[in-house]
Amino acid sequence: MFDRFNRKLNYLRISVTDRCNLRCTYCMPEKGIKLFRHTEILSFDEIAGFTQVAVSKGVTKVRLTGGEPLVRKGVTTLVRMISEIKGIDDLSMTTNGTLLKQYALELKVAGLHRVNISLDTIDPEKFRAITRSGNLTDVFEGINAAKNAGLLPVKINCVIKDSKEEEEARAVTRFCKDNDLEIRYIRQMDLVRGHFSIVEGGTGGDCSLCNRLRLTSSGKLKPCLFSNIELDIRELGFEKAINLAAELKPECGSKNETDAFYNIGG
Ligand code: SAM
Ligand code: SF4
Repeated sequence: MFDRFNRKLNYLRISVTDRCNLRCTYCMPEKGIKLFRHTEILSFDEIAGFTQVAVSKGVTKVRLTGGEPLVRKGVTTLVRMISEIKGIDDLSMTTNGTLLKQYALELKVAGLHRVNISLDTIDPEKFRAITRSGNLTDVFEGINAAKNAGLLPVKINCVIKDSKEEEEARAVTRFCKDNDLEIRYIRQMDLVRGHFSIVEGGTGGDCSLCNRLRLTSSGKLKPCLFSNIELDIRELGFEKAINLAAELKPECGSKNETDAFYNIGG
């Protein structure tokens, strides 16, 4: 499937929940978070059904994200349902890693290929400050569990302010070198102000190469992270929503005033 600008759309990112067990300062407010009602959240059958249609139209790469995908009850069942769809050659998850110790093996058995784990610092105090609650040991154990389960390559997402030469990022870089982990540096973005840039070591952020569609946990299909355009897959039907998203995908991102990182998943 191609959009108006001849970009091939083959990558679907699915936010399976807007809930999270951390509160990263750049992603979620500490209080007053407006979460979707449970009745608004897509069921596993709806997500898998939608993914099936997206794959029939050319999607080959699927990523589960959140919120924190591992706080959604039974998420390994969803992984299994999606992994059974013929035509997906890359099935991954972006996670904060805190629950991976518990789920890594189950996820691998269910058919997940690999994980990206978010890690901005290797200092426990700074980690607690950034996440407003997290325990860094949980993430380290999660990284080991992912490696042992074979969810490879394990990639690290490191959010930076301006440069990968910042002290925290340099320490994470060393940690990755020492532990056989790939790293990608994501400059801190602002959806409302429209601040975004290319992900170093990754593929995001370059509009001319964008191959993505995003599905929120409440069933809104977003053709662009930095746009207010959204198509309701329940109202429109899956195929029509996908066709419209391809038709309406902007040439370049601008602003997104309707979502936050924790409900669209980055
Ligand atoms: N909870 C999971 C996690 O943290 O990996 C998945 C969802 S999170 C929204 C997905 C990615 O978005 C993470 O790598 C996170 O660091 C990144 N992210 C969140 N807020 C961001 C922001 N304001 N700018 C850039 N990246 C951000
Ligand atoms: Fe949660 Fe991930 Fe957002 Fe941090 S970045 S608050 S872990 S969704």
